[in-house]
Amino acid sequence: MARLEAQHEFVWNILQEYLPEGTRLTSVIRTAQDQLDTIVKYARKEKFDFKQAPTLADKGTWLPALSYLRKKNYKIAEPGRSAHQKGLAFDLSGKNLKEIRQAVEKAQADGRLSIQKIITEWSNHCVHVEVTSAQTRNEMVFLEGMTISL
Ligand SMILES: [Zn+2]
Repeated sequence: MARLEAQHEFVWNILQEYLPEGTRLTSVIRTAQDQLDTIVKYARKEKFDFKQAPTLADKGTWLPALSYLRKKNYKIAEPGRSAHQKGLAFDLSGKNLKEIRQAVEKAQADGRLSIQKIITEWSNHCVHVEVTSAQTRNEMVFLEGMTISL
């Protein structure tokens, strides 16, 4: 996976202790442009008809597509608003989303991960997890960049 920084590796290693075999990390850091591309991809898949080419600079070119997707139950953030842009969110995909979600909740219950939000995205087939910090026996890593020794 591209653009994985040390703090993301740290979280991913902890998650792997809990996740069912075969779970994939499908997305961590996405730029605003990546987010727009994602909206466009799903909108096209759902046969949305763009009146003009969608660009970040002009919200009017993509907002109708986003509303269209949300009516179809897509949980998808506006470009610029996604936790992925700050590198605070992990999308996990695999055969059984319920099992993946339970594994994440177990990591949280064990005190290994501090989690702000978990969303099961059925339409994108992933579990979206927003993590604030993660810890092992000797280290606590905050996703916004700080690490402390324990
Ligand atoms: Zn996500």
